Amino acid sequence: LRRIIVKVRDGGYPIYIGSGILEKFPAVCEKHGIRSHVVIITDRIVAGIYLDGLVGIMRDAGFRPDVIIIPPGESQKSISRVARIYTELIKMKLRRDETIIALGGGVIGDLAGFVAATYLRGVNLVYVPTTLLAQVDSSIGGKVAINHKFGKNLIGAFYRPVFIFSDIETLKTLPRRELICGLGEVVKYGIIMKKDILDIIEDRDVPSGDNLKIYRKLVEHSANVKSYVVSRDERERKYRMILNFGHTIGHGIEASLNYKKLKHGEAILIGILAESFISVKRGVLPKVDFERIKKIILKISKEIPHKEFDKNSILKHIYLDKKIMNQRLNMFLPVRIGMMRFFDDISFRELSMAIDYIKEVFF
Ligand code: ADP
Ligand code: ZN
Repeated sequence: LRRIIVKVRDGGYPIYIGSGILEKFPAVCEKHGIRSHVVIITDRIVAGIYLDGLVGIMRDAGFRPDVIIIPPGESQKSISRVARIYTELIKMKLRRDETIIALGGGVIGDLAGFVAATYLRGVNLVYVPTTLLAQVDSSIGGKVAINHKFGKNLIGAFYRPVFIFSDIETLKTLPRRELICGLGEVVKYGIIMKKDILDIIEDRDVPSGDNLKIYRKLVEHSANVKSYVVSRDERERKYRMILNFGHTIGHGIEASLNYKKLKHGEAILIGILAESFISVKRGVLPKVDFERIKKIILKISKEIPHKEFDKNSILKHIYLDKKIMNQRLNMFLPVRIGMMRFFDDISFRELSMAIDYIKEVFF
C-alpha cells in the first residue's frame, strides 16, 4: 500500500495505491475517523462487479453502508440527478459527520463529489476510483462538477476528499477503450515531468490490461505528478496550466466532433502529438524527443476508432471564446521529454500546421 500526499493549504490528503487492496479499505476508513454510517454512490456497471464485495467487507468491519446506484454515463452529471440523490440521502438520514463514498470512474467521482460538497453544506468524501482516468486524473485536485445543457462541468466547486483509495486490480475489468483514455493523461504526465513513464510504456505491451504491475507503476508516477502540480497551485493559477498540455488542440478535436466520436483521452493523445509538433517546428523540442513521443502515441492510438478531422471546425472551437481569430495563444510546450516551458505567442498558423500534420499522420 503506497501512500502519496496531496499537499494543500492548511493540510493535505493521502492517495493510497496498491493492487488487490480492497480488504484494507475499512481499516483505512477507521484510521481517518470515518463513522459507521456511510453511503456508497456508484453506477450500475461498477456495482455489478465490485459493490457486493465492498459492502460485505464494510459490514464485516462493523460499518453500516447504504447504497445509491445510478445508470452509467456522462448524462448523469445533471442537476436533476443531483436532486434525486439529495432526496435519497435525506431518507437515509446521512448526517453531517458521515461519509459519501464515490465508487466508480470520473463521472461518479464528479457527481458524488458535487453531492458531498453541497449536501448539508458538505459531508466527508472518499474516492474509490475504478478507471485509469479517475485514478490518475479526475480524483486528484479537488474539483467536483456537474454539467449544464450549455456546457460540461459548468457547475461545481473545489472540495477535498478525506482520502483517495486506488485499487489497481479494478483495472482488470476495465474496457480496453477506457484504458486507452486513461493512457492519454498518463503519457501527458510523462512528457511534462516524468520521463520514467515513457520508458515503461515504450518497452511494454501497453495498452494491455493484463500486466497490472505496469499499471501500478504508471498510476503511482501519474498520481505523483498531478498531486505535485495541484499542490503547487491549488486554485488554477498559471502553473496548473502545465496540465493542459495536449488539451488546447485535444479539446478542439473533441468539440469539433460534438463530443461524440472520440472520448476525452483519445482526443488528448492526438492533441499531445499535435502540440509536440508545434514545439519541434519551433526548434525548441529536439527531433529525437519528438520521434519518441510520436512512436508512443501511434502505438497507443492504433485502435482509436475515428480519425477524420475537420481543420476549420477544430480551429473555430479553439478560438471560440477568444472572439478574435488569429490571436496568439498561451501554452506550455515540451522543450525535452520531462521538461516544459511557457509560451505566450502561439500563432494561428502554427495551430493550423499542427492540425494538418495530425491529419496526415492519422490518414
Ligand atoms: P471516466 O473515468 O473515464 O471519466 P466513467 O466514469 O464514465 O469514465 O466510466 C467509464 C465506463 O466504465 C462506465 O460505463 C463505467 O460504468 C465503467 N467502469 C468504471 N470502472 C470500471 C471497472 N473497473 N471495470 C469495468 N467497467 C468500469
Ligand atoms: Zn484531460
